[in-house]
Amino acid sequence: MLDLLFHNVKSIHFINNVDIGIEGGIITYIKDTGSPMPPAKHVVEADGRVVLPGFNESHIHLEKAYLLQKMEKEATSLQEAIQITADLKKTFTKEDITERATRVLGKCIQSGVTNLRCHVEVDDILQLKAMESILELKEKFANLITLQIVTFPQEGIFIQQHAAELMEESLKMGADAVGGIPYNDRDSSEHLDYVFHLAERYNKPIDLHIDLSDDPDDLSILDIIDRTKKYHMEGKVSVAHMTSLGSVEHHKARKIAAKIADAGINVMALPATDLYLNGRGDFEKIRRGLTPVSILLEERANVIFATNNIQNPFTPFGTGNILDVAYLFAEVTRMGTKEDANTIIDMLTYRSAKALNLTSYGFKIGGTADLVMFDAKNLRDVLLTQPHVVCSYKNGRKVI
Ligand SMILES: [Zn+2]
Repeated sequence: MLDLLFHNVKSIHFINNVDIGIEGGIITYIKDTGSPMPPAKHVVEADGRVVLPGFNESHIHLEKAYLLQKMEKEATSLQEAIQITADLKKTFTKEDITERATRVLGKCIQSGVTNLRCHVEVDDILQLKAMESILELKEKFANLITLQIVTFPQEGIFIQQHAAELMEESLKMGADAVGGIPYNDRDSSEHLDYVFHLAERYNKPIDLHIDLSDDPDDLSILDIIDRTKKYHMEGKVSVAHMTSLGSVEHHKARKIAAKIADAGINVMALPATDLYLNGRGDFEKIRRGLTPVSILLEERANVIFATNNIQNPFTPFGTGNILDVAYLFAEVTRMGTKEDANTIIDMLTYRSAKALNLTSYGFKIGGTADLVMFDAKNLRDVLLTQPHVVCSYKNGRKVI
């Protein structure tokens, strides 16, 4: 006897509508709608509406969300954003971090996110304050949303006194991935060497902030491709921003994109931040400042998008609803066809699950029973109409 049966579901990667059955938090039954229904303790009638295995928010900063009211001046460049945030961080308390992070998680859950990867800052200012707070939230919210925590040296590793040891300590505490930011340290190669060594020692994936500029010579991605191969970490490395590649000559960018795909490196575009901070030196032909998504897609790299920041010096926008970012991403990448809408929904689900190494994600026998039903009858409407979540289940248990 099934615990739960979703009847007449429209979903991505299924041609026909299907029925999906759950037992003990796992998907154990999938058949086309119209097949004889197996017995179930509870039936959810989808009536042809879209049901997805939950959105993945693949890159977000919880502890520095909602800072606008604390700011005395506005940031107009990446360096100013880093500086203003570093100053504000001195005032953060654990309670304050927990309160703002909880608000973000609430918004994410309401918009249909069931997995979330957050970058949590460790440095001489915060030390392990944010790490402790977010680890507690990971535990507290486990029945509603799965958190992956990246230990993130936003202020650099070698230009800080304790960042290296704090990163290691946070992995011992339970961080899930090793972060990095080679453009904010004394030497990019040295920074990357440390990150790759650390990831190897703790057997963790890597998730880096890189090449956030319009300068076509900012290509730490080339060093990252080499190291990914050298350390045999294909599929375990993600890079965010990489906007400089968008300013590289087309044929050269295409070759790099092919190498990214070959190394299995996941690329995360962060449109709200990338559009806001880049292109500011252009007075004509003003660049959008995004990574070249179409070239990456054509070369079959796993390229996705995420929120990054909510209302802080880096990005004074953001609602916490990932579908708002999806809409922005669709417009700025000119992904306007019906097929593009499917690709965007795939990025929010299966493609981002691949980046987050979520092996039991998705509608398959043995898959984790995360299911979110939207008030929409087709995938394009999920993107275009911002439908509300009718109901959602995490590990087979009702969330909304
Ligand atoms: Zn970020």
